[in-house]
Amino acid sequence: MNIALIAHDARKDAIVTLAKTFAPQLRKHFLLATGTTGSRLHKEVGLEVECLLSGPFGGDLQIGARLAQGMVDLVVFLRDPMTAQPHEPDINALLRACDVHNVPCATNNATASLLLSHLA
Ligand code: PGA
Repeated sequence: MNIALIAHDARKDAIVTLAKTFAPQLRKHFLLATGTTGSRLHKEVGLEVECLLSGPFGGDLQIGARLAQGMVDLVVFLRDPMTAQPHEPDINALLRACDVHNVPCATNNATASLLLSHLA
């Protein structure tokens, strides 16, 4: 599977912890991520991750474009629900693309844990 990982700044520690927990499962799949999230997952968890642009510079849109082309099978997007984001339209576009293409998208830890624990 191709799995996209994204976390807003306030949720980056959470995605690192999540990725450490599920590292054995994640290693079996192709991972892609927005820039800062991906570089933290590589440095702190040791995962091989294709790093796209940082979210505010178009990374969410890049992931959305790949997803629309059938190249993303699962999205973990730990959003910060308490802070307005400058790239809110990009975030909404990615979430909409998930719904349009029926791609599972976890936006909080509980859902992400459920999805990742079901990875083969
Ligand atoms: P980042 O982007 O991983 O480059 O911080 C995430 C986002 O803000 O959408």
